[in-house]
Amino acid sequence: MAYDPQVVDAKIVSDNKKNGLFEVVAYMKDRNQCRLIFERDPETGVGKVQNINRLMKEPCPICRKDYLCNCLERYMHTIADQSVPFIK
Ligand SMILES: [Zn+2]
Repeated sequence: MAYDPQVVDAKIVSDNKKNGLFEVVAYMKDRNQCRLIFERDPETGVGKVQNINRLMKEPCPICRKDYLCNCLERYMHTIADQSVPFIK
């Protein structure tokens, strides 16, 4: 079954002006939450996603484990793209 991530909200939780990294927590329709690490391009100011971590509020929507897994990595860009409108 293909996972269809649906971001319903996202917010910036930290923003490091020195190295251009900022962290976003994305809230999913299935009640999962994940943290995305973006790096801001120093010239364009556009954030580029670097990393994703599931916040273990709910079992993984893909493998159903309730501990660390890397399933969401495959959806990192989709989740990041959906999160951007909420943090602008
Ligand atoms: Zn998983």
